[in-house]
Amino acid sequence: MALEGEKKRWPATAVLSATTRRGALARLGRLLIAAVAVGAALADYGRRGRALAATAIRPPGALPEPKFLAACVRCGLCVRDCPYDTLRLAEMGEPVPVGTPFFLARDIPCEMCEDIPCVKACPTGALDPALTDIKAADMGLAVFVGVDRCYSFNGIGACRACFIACPVKGEAITMELLVKDGRSVFLPTVHAEACTGCGKCEKDCITEEASIKVLPRRLAQTDTGLAGRYG
Ligand code: SF4
Ligand code: SF4
Ligand code: SF4
Repeated sequence: MALEGEKKRWPATAVLSATTRRGALARLGRLLIAAVAVGAALADYGRRGRALAATAIRPPGALPEPKFLAACVRCGLCVRDCPYDTLRLAEMGEPVPVGTPFFLARDIPCEMCEDIPCVKACPTGALDPALTDIKAADMGLAVFVGVDRCYSFNGIGACRACFIACPVKGEAITMELLVKDGRSVFLPTVHAEACTGCGKCEKDCITEEASIKVLPRRLAQTDTGLAGRYG
């Protein structure tokens, strides 16, 4: 028993264990600071990612971007189940939040699978399971971004490649007869309400830099409901 006034002496093991605890607490503190820093960096990256790059298209059924980013757990199951390797997960340095799925239409467009396996694979609803008809998909909207390059618009030829490529041709793209400089010409015209944003027109456009591109709808939508038309 310790005498009154005598300094309490801790056994060596207790002193050691107290030292170990202090060391562990210091390490934990350093880890917490590092975790907070990483969390802040990721949150900042996520905030910047809310404005999706113009060329990056989300898979069919993707929720509006902020909700999509909150719901997507970056599992990659939609990418795994896409039979055409259309989808890929964003890597560091790309203008899309890391680990989230997207596609570049000029590389590999969406083939508009009837059974929509990417949506079925999604475990969180980030790709909305309410999308059961691929023709109702709204990945983006095709826009004529290079009427000077486009053979139909610039009068050099009578190209129909984008029209032919469209899986919803006759609805999403039509060839409209118009009079230009006193000549009758057929010009491809995109109809916003039917375009799914699959990107097959962009992929098959014959000009070196695609004259028609799919953009996220918020960037592409016009007041008229027509995304591309000779005016
Ligand atoms: S609809 Fe088909 S091709 Fe398009 S992203 Fe989904 S799985 Fe891939
Ligand atoms: S216009 Fe282009 S993006 Fe729209 S549905 Fe047709 S091919 Fe797909
Ligand atoms: S495929 Fe390209 S060049 Fe041909 S009509 Fe369409 S946008 Fe114009």
